Amino acid sequence: MDATGTWDVAVVGAGPAGSAAALAALRVRPGARVLLLDRADFPRDKACGDGVAPHVLDVLDSLGAPGLVDDHRPVRRLHLQVAPGPSGRPHERGAAAVARDMRRPARVVPRRVLDARIRAAALAAGAEARTGVVRAVSVGSRDVRLGLSGGDGLRARVVVGADGAGSAVRRALGLPGPPGRATGLAVRGYGPVRADLADEQRIVFDGTGPPAYAWSFPVGDGTANVGYGEVLVGGAAPSRRRYLERLEALLPGTTDGAGSWRGHHLPLSSDPVRQPDGRVLLAGDSLSLVNPLTGEGLYYAVLSGACAGSAAVAADGGDPGRAYRTMLRRRLGRHLRHTSALQRLVRVPGVLAAGVRAAGDPAVFDDLVEVGLGRGLLSARVALATGAALAGSSGTARPPHSPRP
Ligand SMILES: Cc1cc2nc3c(=O)[nH]c(=O)nc-3n(C[C@H](O)[C@H](O)[C@H](O)COP(=O)(O)OP(=O)(O)OC[C@H]3O[C@@H](n4cnc5c(N)ncnc54)[C@H](O)[C@@H]3O)c2cc1C
Repeated sequence: MDATGTWDVAVVGAGPAGSAAALAALRVRPGARVLLLDRADFPRDKACGDGVAPHVLDVLDSLGAPGLVDDHRPVRRLHLQVAPGPSGRPHERGAAAVARDMRRPARVVPRRVLDARIRAAALAAGAEARTGVVRAVSVGSRDVRLGLSGGDGLRARVVVGADGAGSAVRRALGLPGPPGRATGLAVRGYGPVRADLADEQRIVFDGTGPPAYAWSFPVGDGTANVGYGEVLVGGAAPSRRRYLERLEALLPGTTDGAGSWRGHHLPLSSDPVRQPDGRVLLAGDSLSLVNPLTGEGLYYAVLSGACAGSAAVAADGGDPGRAYRTMLRRRLGRHLRHTSALQRLVRVPGVLAAGVRAAGDPAVFDDLVEVGLGRGLLSARVALATGAALAGSSGTARPPHSPRP
């Protein structure tokens, strides 16, 4: 910090978004005084499916933190299913499945490991760590003051709020967050991996109600991260018991011997990004950046964190909030428009199953993976193939496209 005790950048939250912001700030301006503040001591757990898309690792690589999870087994196979209707028979136009290898493998890395490693890379790059809970944010003309629990405080020229779904920084700016915005809720646990799921990421969509799915992601040590999540649209109140019942119904046997259950909100993204002008930048979940189709949030977290960190130190004389918003819209704007439209489309009966059937075509599958895990767009071939699958399935019930045995 400078003689007045003011940090160049104070990052609130040392999860993937916050640590990426610190890494980026120090990459753009080596020697900058960057504080990485979190209420938790690390390593710490975080409710997550632990699915790490290759896109996340690309961003970390570009920030000078390559190979952080090379010791975790790559998982190339992705198996998508839309579950049969409640009668147990294939629901008319409802059931479908596809299993293919992704062009690039994902990894399954418990967040206790992943987040600690990204944060350690930020500290090695020169960020300073501190444990503390941010309670208040007051924005002045030259700096921002953060009030911490216990009455402590500090000042920074720019603050990056990367403090997750319940962001205190976002609330201090008066911006809406859950439950006012589209929100998902998911519960995850760890248990022995089901034998047929040891080498693939399996996602089973509940084709009958509001957008929801169960997953099993193999960690590579004989266990799997399993869970169930849904978009909150009213109706049945979320409860751990009901979520575990849905998980067991969609992926039988996966709750046997499983434990460490933990749930969390997913603030789903919409278009456009709502980043205000000024000295306070929001990144990751605090800016509601979670893919509304897949629940993927790690790629958006590190990408937005990287943009926020560089805008925080690069916009000398300019407005960091405006510079950051422009950067984010350039990187994610079209993609967010497409995912917003798609999440409305998949609520139309039959569309989700038709999309999964269309993914039997390898090129369509690859395009869909990019939309769900990266910043891909709704391609013409996805639209045409899904339309054809929908038209082909109207009228009579069809058996699902068979995955490999
Ligand atoms: C059950 C579940 C499954 C998911 N599965 C996947 C998946 O498989 N793949 C994927 O890509 N995404 C997944 N997501 C989404 C992903 O977990 C989030 O998008 C991601 O964690 C966002 O990272 P972040 O850095 O923005 O926030 P977080 O990871 O939530 O980090 C925020 C940090 O801020 C700290 N903090 C909070 N408040 C304060 C405060 N007041 N003062 C100081 N520090 C504070 C917290 O301690 C925390 O360390 C899942 C989410 C859930 C809930």
